[in-house]
Amino acid sequence: MRQLLLALAAAGLVLGQAAHGRPADAQSATADAAAPAAATAKRPNVLVVTLDTTRADHTSAYGYARPTTPRLIELAQQGVRFEAAYAPMATTLPSHTSMFTGLLPRTHGALKNGLPVNPKLTLLAETLGGAGYRTAAFLSSFAVSGRFGLQRGFSEYDDRFQDGQCKWDVERWEGQKIAGDFCRRGDLTRAATVKWLESAGYLPGAKGTAGAAKQPEQPFFIWIHFFDPHNPYDPLPEQAKLFPPPSANPTELERDIANYDAEIHFADQEMGKLLDALAKAGRLDDTLVIVAGDHGEGLMDHGWMLHGLQIYEEAVRVPLVFRWPAKLPQGKTIAEPVELIDIAPTVLELIGVPAPKVTPPVEGISLAAAMTGTAKLDPQRPILLQRRFYASKSEKGIAVKGSKHALRLGDWKYIEAKEEDSFELYDLKSDPREKSNLADAKPAERATMADRLAKTVAGTAAATAPAARTVSEEDQRKLEALGYVQ
Ligand SMILES: [Zn+2]
Repeated sequence: MRQLLLALAAAGLVLGQAAHGRPADAQSATADAAAPAAATAKRPNVLVVTLDTTRADHTSAYGYARPTTPRLIELAQQGVRFEAAYAPMATTLPSHTSMFTGLLPRTHGALKNGLPVNPKLTLLAETLGGAGYRTAAFLSSFAVSGRFGLQRGFSEYDDRFQDGQCKWDVERWEGQKIAGDFCRRGDLTRAATVKWLESAGYLPGAKGTAGAAKQPEQPFFIWIHFFDPHNPYDPLPEQAKLFPPPSANPTELERDIANYDAEIHFADQEMGKLLDALAKAGRLDDTLVIVAGDHGEGLMDHGWMLHGLQIYEEAVRVPLVFRWPAKLPQGKTIAEPVELIDIAPTVLELIGVPAPKVTPPVEGISLAAAMTGTAKLDPQRPILLQRRFYASKSEKGIAVKGSKHALRLGDWKYIEAKEEDSFELYDLKSDPREKSNLADAKPAERATMADRLAKTVAGTAAATAPAARTVSEEDQRKLEALGYVQ
């Protein structure tokens, strides 16, 4: 508990402010607020689609045998697909916060769900709003509810889940009481997005062209989040029919996986309907589209069905595709490892909005030059992964405690959880599914990777940790009252 409190304090958490926009004195960025309207008129729209709980190797866009994502395949054929994209943590809020800040979870401090995002951090929506974009977000899960802070910078933040047809009946979650529905089905979130686009004049209205006649000059930035692949796997019957289990007498796991695949297909389908609406109005090609998973899912590859507890490849390898025909090549794939923290700097460079000067500095890198072919990415880039923080927990035979970090470096991946006395080393080239732990057999490689991991972790913390602060007793009481501390 103390560690978590200290982490919160180090992140500069200001209680009670997260859900109400950033305080005026917390501005740590100088966004491109003065960009004239004329300069922004030619900028593309930006559409970020996040697919919750979608592991890359269960999408047909990444070679999965079942046709789960025909629309993502199409997008990849018309754009750029990153073969090895990593979520920094297999948990929804930390991962989305990384996408929109360009910071690793260690740095942004939202180390688990249910925490408020540090109000001092600059979010992509704030930067784009300051650069003249009209911003709107359409969410499908309480995990990214505006109360946790990602709503900053969005003029519309639709986290209304009433009548969301939520498949998950939950009353308490991460210390929070759930008043209404926990989530919203993808078709309803997509419909809300289309409705907003119509009302804002970006799409013609259902009854004619009244909306389109407005022809807004202002480009939009939309984030749409699909939650369907998240457990429980409970697809609509017409989706389930498309993905039957592999045999007449399937195991429970086979049935679950078939249903999970059907849910991925549903999210892909609904994303496709949104893209179709934009294409029909002639707006798709003027839109930079980014599709990313926020994390994967265990599916018992390492004895765990869901996500959060582990950072094996199935939990952190996610789809990542960019499409913008005006500037990006078509059908390109990039093999070098990249991270979700790269999304924000890449978007800014592609659309020509200056990156704000922020503290702590952004840790992601722009992938723009790699996509356009003017530069190559480093295949040896160290990829730091982190498990969400657990005070202590045991679920279905898996006990977890404290922090767990991993480093991918080239073909090697090293996973370390000191508080669990757990050390793992894998050769991803010969063992991509991480089945053979070489930590004892390869002591030299293990020592090298442990050293690199320690240095990477220390470097991240050194770059980011603000002056150490202690948590006051009052703050601690507030945290406990709010349910932020388990
Ligand atoms: Zn998630």
